[in-house]
Formats: sequence, C-alpha cells, structure tokens
Amino acid sequence: MMRLEGKSALITGAARGIGKSFAKRYVQEGATVAIADIDLARAQACATEIGPKAYAVHVDVTDQESIDAAVAATEAKAGRLDILINNAALFDLAPIVEITRESYQRLFDINVAGTLFMIQAAANSMIKAGNGGKIINMASQAGRRGESLVGVYCATKAAVISLTQSAGLNLIQHGINVNAIAPGVVDGEHWDGVDALFAKYEGLAPGEKKAAVGRSVPFGRMGTAEDLTGMAVFLASDDADYIVAQTYNVDGGNWMS
Ligand code: NAD
Repeated sequence: MMRLEGKSALITGAARGIGKSFAKRYVQEGATVAIADIDLARAQACATEIGPKAYAVHVDVTDQESIDAAVAATEAKAGRLDILINNAALFDLAPIVEITRESYQRLFDINVAGTLFMIQAAANSMIKAGNGGKIINMASQAGRRGESLVGVYCATKAAVISLTQSAGLNLIQHGINVNAIAPGVVDGEHWDGVDALFAKYEGLAPGEKKAAVGRSVPFGRMGTAEDLTGMAVFLASDDADYIVAQTYNVDGGNWMS
C-alpha cells in the first residue's frame, strides 16, 4: 500500500543527500514532490532522475520572496501543499575563539530562520486550504548537546528542536502536525565536507574522522540517507496524526531521549 497517495510535498535542500532520498521514497509512496533547492540545476537533474512526479523548484530559504515563490509554485503545480520537510541546512566547524560572525549569521539564517519562515509560509498555505498538513524539520544529534568544535551548528539544531515544539503546539489547532527527525552521522557529500573540516582542526588524515564516528555508533556503522526515509514517511502519514511537537532520534543508538 502506498502511504502518501495523492499528497503534495515540498522538500527543501532536496537536490542531494538526505533530502533527495526522501524525495525518491515519497514518490514511491504516491506523493508529488517539489525538489526545492538553492542549486536549481542540481534540483532539475534530481527531479529528472526521480521521474514525472518530482519537479524542481528554486528556493533560497534565507530570502522571504523566494520562500513565498516556492510555496506558490508548489500550489500552482500540485494544487496544494500537504507536506513540508525543512531539510536544507549548512554546517561549519571552528574552535570558539575562531568562530566568525559571518559563519554564525549564515548558519542561523539558513538553519533557523529558514526553517521558521518555511514553516510559516507552508502553514499559511495549509490553513488556507483547510486540510491540515504535516511539517517535518531536520534536527540533529548535534541539537541534543554541544560539541567542542561545533558550537554554532549545534546551537542552530537545538533551536530547530525548540521551534518544532513551539510550532507543533501552535499549529495543531489547524490540524498541522509539526515534528522533527534527529539523525546521527549520515554518510554522503555533507559528511565528506565535515570530515575535511575535522581533518584540518584535529590533524587527522582524510577519512579518519568518518571511520571513527562510524565505529562509535552502537549499531556499528554510519547511517545512510535511506535509513531515515521510513521515519520521514511515517511522520508524513495519517499514522502520525496524534504525534505533536516531537523530535525522533534515528541515529543507530547514538542518543537516548
Ligand atoms: P547536504 O549538505 O548534503 O544537502 C543540503 C542541501 O541544502 C544542498 O542540496 C544545498 O544546495 C541545499 N541548500 C543549502 N543552502 C540552501 C538555501 N539557502 N536554500 C535552499 N537550499 C539550500 O545535507 P544532508 O547531509 O543531506 O543533510 C540534510 C539535513 O539533515 C540537514 O538539515 C542536516 O543538518 C541534517 N543532518 C545531517 C546529518 C548528516 O550526517 N549528514 C546529521 C544530522 C542532521
């Protein structure tokens, strides 16, 4: 049975990585999916790869006009918006004494303001349509506790968990469920970049950090994007109607809460 038959979804940052994997699985489950990314060429390639139920939309989640245009494009293409995944995010890493205002601002603009104002635009669309909806935010184990070199990113993901709670409580009166997924360490292009940054600051050889974090996961390896898709389908489905303002760890056992 397809679990998202006839639903219209918008996934930010879906041109690659975890968002792309969500988009593929949502289409398999019967949804129509807007691959919304700042990299339009890559979003288009991704949509072509997935097939006719996926289409590319340009969005820069730091720009209000761009957010409004992406939601309007989804309404125009699919008739309405039922599911939003706030997946776009940026990572950076530096010791506290080296953090720059530029990095701080960029990460908070994308990861926190981007999430909040995408929630707002999607909620306005869903309230207008009157059919409720599902909003899923990508948090992280990084939002559960600080990390020595990852101060800003960890703070943005803690803010995502908090916004999930407030938006979840505020929007359930409209039949809109807001919840989050907190992955652990997920292999892919994103973690190739993280590995390179750790190599620089911890004096490691390329690949060494990745191998170490993989070994330390109770499950025994890093996660894959596909490991997260089941939770993303569940939280978007009718089975999650009574779930409000929660953040679920999908991390091979790294964090327990
Ligand atoms: P990724 O870096 O591979 O992909 C992010 C996507 O977001 C890219 O396609 C990029 O073009 C897009 N993007 C960047 N800035 C944007 C903007 N301003 N507007 C619109 N799109 C923009 O990331 P990923 O590894 O697939 O991670 C997806 C989500 O999961 C993120 O929220 C991330 O924080 C979270 N997460 C990832 C991991 C991991 O280990 N990979 C762990 C925990 C949480």
